[in-house]
Amino acid sequence: MPERTPYIAANWKMNKTVAEAAEFIDALLPRIAATQCDVVICPPFTALSEVVQRRYGTAVKVAAQNMHEGESGAFTGEVSAAMLVELDVEAVVLGHSERRQYFDETDEALARKVPAALAADLEPILCVGESEGARDAGETEEVLERQLQADLADVESGDLARVVIAYEPIWAIGTGRTATPEQAQETCAFIRDVLRMRGAAADELRVIYGGSMKPANAAELLAKPDVDGGLIGGASLDPADFAAIVEAAG
Ligand code: PEP
Repeated sequence: MPERTPYIAANWKMNKTVAEAAEFIDALLPRIAATQCDVVICPPFTALSEVVQRRYGTAVKVAAQNMHEGESGAFTGEVSAAMLVELDVEAVVLGHSERRQYFDETDEALARKVPAALAADLEPILCVGESEGARDAGETEEVLERQLQADLADVESGDLARVVIAYEPIWAIGTGRTATPEQAQETCAFIRDVLRMRGAAADELRVIYGGSMKPANAAELLAKPDVDGGLIGGASLDPADFAAIVEAAG
């Protein structure tokens, strides 16, 4: 089975000015100089360039938090894949539950965004996850399978392993409630199986967990065999905390 490189991504959401982003990167880089992980920073659009410039010469990658699927046009407030690539951005978060919940991001739009990102050579970090009600009703797998099939409908099976899947239970995001390592393992393994059935090189595909991951719980979550990394919100805003999570990933 191929070794999967752990993937640790910092989702800053709508946090950090350019000056704050610069300060963070300067504090982070010496702390993670020895890491073997893929470390990805997802700043707001306004700080992308600053983070790209400061990370040159390091292994840190930069991701946007969203993009539009079109190449150009009358879409006020939107940003295309080509615009991100021009900045040397390498990845993009798609379908975060906050975008689904507050900005009406739909599976139909995601089915266009994921292939558009791949076509531009941007690594999509596709977020999926169930609500608390769905988990309580025993519908977690049904919800995840529906999201995965819909959002990846137009991705060739040979390209599926180029997508990073972030399993983010909505009830764990920003709540301080974390999935147990067993829940994270079981659900990430389920996601891998769904994509294996879709023809993915599932042993190469990275499936990461997000939802209140922090230095105190990262090691036990990341020790699970199907949890290939983390998407970290709150704890990624502090360089020492985020570096501790990177260290826990090995
Ligand atoms: C996220 O926003 O993707 C996330 C996981 O947030 P938090 O770590 O704060 O729960």
